[in-house]
Amino acid sequence: MKILVINCGSSSLKYQLIDSDTEQVLAKGLCERIGIEGGCLTHQGAGKEKVTIQKDMPEHTVAVQMVIEALTDKEHGVIASLDEIGAVGHRIVHGGEKFAGSVIVTDEVVQAIEECADLAPLHNPANLIGIRSCEKIMPGVLQAAVFDTAFHQTMPKKAYLYGLPYEYYEKYKVRRYGFHGTSHDFVSARAAQILGKDRKDLRIIVCHLGNGASISAVKYGESVDTSMGLTPLEGLIMGTRCGDIDPAVVSFLGEKEQLSYQELSDVMNKKSGVLGMSGISSDFRDLGAAADQGDERAKMTLDAYAYRVAKYIGAYTAAMGGVDVIAFTAGVGENNISMREMIGEYLGFLGTKVDHEKNNLRGEEAVISTPESRVSMMVVPTNEELAIARETLRLVRKQ
Ligand code: ADP
Repeated sequence: MKILVINCGSSSLKYQLIDSDTEQVLAKGLCERIGIEGGCLTHQGAGKEKVTIQKDMPEHTVAVQMVIEALTDKEHGVIASLDEIGAVGHRIVHGGEKFAGSVIVTDEVVQAIEECADLAPLHNPANLIGIRSCEKIMPGVLQAAVFDTAFHQTMPKKAYLYGLPYEYYEKYKVRRYGFHGTSHDFVSARAAQILGKDRKDLRIIVCHLGNGASISAVKYGESVDTSMGLTPLEGLIMGTRCGDIDPAVVSFLGEKEQLSYQELSDVMNKKSGVLGMSGISSDFRDLGAAADQGDERAKMTLDAYAYRVAKYIGAYTAAMGGVDVIAFTAGVGENNISMREMIGEYLGFLGTKVDHEKNNLRGEEAVISTPESRVSMMVVPTNEELAIARETLRLVRKQ
């Protein structure tokens, strides 16, 4: 079956068409600037040239229509008609406490996603527009909703409750939810598979280090803690997000700099992280280059980043009563050799040892620790689109 995977943002739409029998990507692409002038679709069919189509997309339905046209185009398309698409899998950011797994989209599901929009005001409405656009253009085609938060719904209360008055949890569901769940699930399962072990026998820490970054404790197959919280702002230092800070910084800076909540949120989401700390870039390649040239702030930023990841690994080792596997994934985790070394250096107390030669790789599955290392350190590239396609197929088969 051919499954269309859609990740709909407020002004963008990423897609992949995946053959679920072979798990091959048949085509992938990105619509940018939806609802803004200067719309653009970049599309690439497997084994074909990448094409860019400039056309304004006043709304998401137009973007979905363009995706279908690109997929069925005589020259750069990969299918003859829309009928070949067996199902659509949507990435949905926030499922609140309502969804502990993926579901087939129904009217009730749409309503429940709408109800969670309070918790992810930028993402959930955009995700819903993606669902509605597909319903309009592909009526009758089965659609699945795969939630970023679902995998972490196994967290115990002690891990997800904040030290706030309990009534805010009861009234507004203010708690830790965690994100990147599809990735933490996929990577922990794959890590166990690579080691030839059952995930149910392992305590795994997954470090998803991309532009957004989060870390999770996966104990015997279930997420028991994760660093992102009510929103994807908490936890690690990220590309442009601050991660953990003293909450009192918010009112302090608000008063000192005369900033509104919205402006403060912008500072913490878009101007902080390694970008704000270094004053150079949110991209680790730029930071690495600056550090190599002796830039002290770039060096300090990279060290602070590694230190925060290592602190979480220590915390999650305590949370699970030990750790068997530490897996690195996403842009930085998969590609940044020196960052993995820096994190590894903090972890000697666990009896871990990075093998410098084995660690010298990018974007490939590998065990990067020495045979004597008491914890297996690994690189496991994530593949959220494939995970969404697999979930969609599983739900289709259950119908
Ligand atoms: P997103 O959260 O947007 O999906 P990614 O997982 O694609 O992010 O990660 C993007 C980040 O990965 C970039 O900001 C960059 O810092 C880092 N990255 C990608 N390739 C490399 C590389 N070769 N060396 C170091 N860092 C890299």
